[in-house]
Amino acid sequence: MVSTTIRFNFFLKGYHSQPSEKSCIALTFDDGPSEYTPEILELLKKHQVQAAFFCIGKQIEKYPEIFQQILEDGHIIGNHTFHHTRKIGFLSSEQIFREILACDEIVENKSGLKLKLFRPPFGIINPKTKRAIQRSGHLVMGWNVRPYDAITKSPEVIIKRITRKLKPGDVILLHDNQQQTASILEQLLVILEKKNLGTLRPDKLFGIHAYR
Ligand SMILES: [Zn+2]
Repeated sequence: MVSTTIRFNFFLKGYHSQPSEKSCIALTFDDGPSEYTPEILELLKKHQVQAAFFCIGKQIEKYPEIFQQILEDGHIIGNHTFHHTRKIGFLSSEQIFREILACDEIVENKSGLKLKLFRPPFGIINPKTKRAIQRSGHLVMGWNVRPYDAITKSPEVIIKRITRKLKPGDVILLHDNQQQTASILEQLLVILEKKNLGTLRPDKLFGIHAYR
């Protein structure tokens, strides 16, 4: 049985959205670091927004300086496995466990940080993944606003999907390995200001620690 949406409380407790008295939402970026991440970091800095980046281990290996920049800018890092394989649904619990550990290891080697937060690739949580996460002891951070920005080509459609029902406490999933993400983010930040919605770093929104 495979849960393809991130609403997997049936399997595992996760953090997806947080009714908030403050008018704030949280931004999360998956699948980086990539060549497109620096432009995103510039925008976030310009608007004084802090976010979470769920990094892929092999991408950290490829872009170590960008990884450092994410941390220097005050964002938090989460685990998104080492290879982010499309075949994750076919991996054994042991293999998934090793994928999670390998991502933890490269982050600790590069930064000294011990990751606490995990986001499963493609939002897939099956019983094997659940077992691996219970063994690794990570907290799962999901999302509740998913605009399919890595699949849809039209920035207008993506922005509409994000903003049409946006409310305080929402957690938005974007991808920092897409060329169009910076331009989507730039427009989104303007819309947030118009709607009087601020942003909170996800760990602060949920009142949890990002690291052990
Ligand atoms: Zn991903």
